[in-house]
Amino acid sequence: MAVIGIDLGTTNSLAAIWRDGKVCLIPDESGNYIIPSIVAVDAEGNILTGYAAREEELLAPQRCASNFKRFMGTKKCYDLAGKKFLPEELSALVLKRIKEAAENFLGEEITEAVISVPAYFNNDQRYATKLAAELAGIVCDRIINEPSAAALTVQEEEIFRKTAEEAAEQCLLVFDFGGGTLDVSVVDCFENIVEITAIAGDNHLGGTDFDEAIAAAFCAENNLDWKAFSEKEKTALKFESKLCKEALSVQDKVKMLYPQEGKNLSMDLTVEKLFALAPGLFRRMKNLVLQAVSDAGLQLTDITQVLLVGGSSRMPAVQIFLSRLFGREICVGGDPDFLVAQGIGLYAAIKERKEEVRDILMTDVCPFSLGVRVQGDLEDGKGKMCMMIERNNILPCRVTKHFVTASEFQEEIRIGVYQGESYYPEQNLKIGELYFPVPKAPAGKEGVFVSFTYNINGILEVFVASDSTGEKKTVTLVSGLRQLSPEKLSEKREWLLAQQHLLQEEEERKAILLMGERLFSQTSGTRREYVDQIIQYYNYAWKSKSPVRIRKAGKRVLQELIALDMCLRSKFDGEEFREEFGEEEEGI
Ligand code: AMP
Repeated sequence: MAVIGIDLGTTNSLAAIWRDGKVCLIPDESGNYIIPSIVAVDAEGNILTGYAAREEELLAPQRCASNFKRFMGTKKCYDLAGKKFLPEELSALVLKRIKEAAENFLGEEITEAVISVPAYFNNDQRYATKLAAELAGIVCDRIINEPSAAALTVQEEEIFRKTAEEAAEQCLLVFDFGGGTLDVSVVDCFENIVEITAIAGDNHLGGTDFDEAIAAAFCAENNLDWKAFSEKEKTALKFESKLCKEALSVQDKVKMLYPQEGKNLSMDLTVEKLFALAPGLFRRMKNLVLQAVSDAGLQLTDITQVLLVGGSSRMPAVQIFLSRLFGREICVGGDPDFLVAQGIGLYAAIKERKEEVRDILMTDVCPFSLGVRVQGDLEDGKGKMCMMIERNNILPCRVTKHFVTASEFQEEIRIGVYQGESYYPEQNLKIGELYFPVPKAPAGKEGVFVSFTYNINGILEVFVASDSTGEKKTVTLVSGLRQLSPEKLSEKREWLLAQQHLLQEEEERKAILLMGERLFSQTSGTRREYVDQIIQYYNYAWKSKSPVRIRKAGKRVLQELIALDMCLRSKFDGEEFREEFGEEEEGI
């Protein structure tokens, strides 16, 4: 059975597989490679995913969830029209959608996948990703970091398309800037070895932060009170901000318009203005680049190529910012939306030990330091970090240290596990705590060996063994709630399956009609006529009740609507959307 690679993105998701000696992206039934990572519950209680959910979000944001990848591993509860979901359950619904599309495309059942995650995902977030896969009926025993996947795509060129003499040693900086996360990695590539040497990242820095900064600037410039906005108004203004931000990729200046109380309020947006309205976001980006390069023991001038990955790296402001930082032109190669998916497809083949890729070696590193809290020398009771695994250690790795009791006749040893670089544990992220019994004895007389094993999926296992009693304990550190028993897991999976899901063609119909209606209201003149024709053409096919006709029309129409939508987003002025669809007779 084939193993597929899945790029489960904050905004969009994609899947890929190795076929006929190369990576092939997997399209859904309508021919789209990109599936929006959005889940909605419609007015009839049906669960929608992908394009249909994206349309529903514009109409009724309170019934929809997006960007939930940002909250993977947390207990954030999403209430969608009375149905409650955790982030991993929403991700499971997106994964299920991808699995179905892949099964349709490949004509075989898919039960295993390699999934990419931001390098900076912590234990809980990685565990939640594996859990999401299991809930979707997919075994995922390999998680890889998104920048590593992107680097693999670039290096594939060197490995397959060049001879050993031609292949140059490369030192890549992967700038992976998505909707909600930024990962900066330094990757050493030589022949068939791809070695990640340093990673720095921020799980809460992405394109949506720019949308929010633009929306805030719009409010400030037009004397609007953001706090007084309803959820629907906030979503609409953020959506308009996102469209204008994206339009800046193809235009020097964009006029942002937003109607309020009968007036059409506006703000001009340029790249320079973006620099001015979000200086903090650029500062955070700069610090991450400098940290990754210095952790790799390099200087900015040692980087031979900057690889842009993720939708937000399309922003000219980001490209200008990087070229100023590196003091040279940043070349944009490959489609940033596809680089990760292609790499993960390649990795799925490596995992399957496919002949052509069997010799490729890829090593990854631990993105943050991991340690335990020990009693400090100071009397402030704060304790201090005893680092077990330093950031940027090559994975997998194992470190063992010995600890002794700190108080007289202590009955147990508490092992608080933290992730982060601060001296004080409290300023780092606590990722778990375990208690281990020890015989009562004077301080310092009893002790334990603690081993940290950080596996290739970036999940930490802690092993504790007593000096004197022979007692041992091994724990995978994830917050209690998430460590589900097999029974609880299958109960959850059944609950998800039991929710009302639309049939694929019904979901597609919903996406087409909602998108059609929206585009009709957003356009005018010949474009509006064109949208009208498309909808009529599709409705006509639907009325025929011929499954083949419906399928063909659905595929064609959805692709056309998505293409038109993209042109409108980039405020494109072309007129080529015309005369493709024959007019149908209409009754009045
Ligand atoms: P990703 O998570 O990689 O799918 O990236 C999604 C983010 O990329 C969203 O915040 C989008 O607004 C942003 N994005 C996509 N295309 C563009 C573009 N052409 N210009 C600016 N931002 C973009």
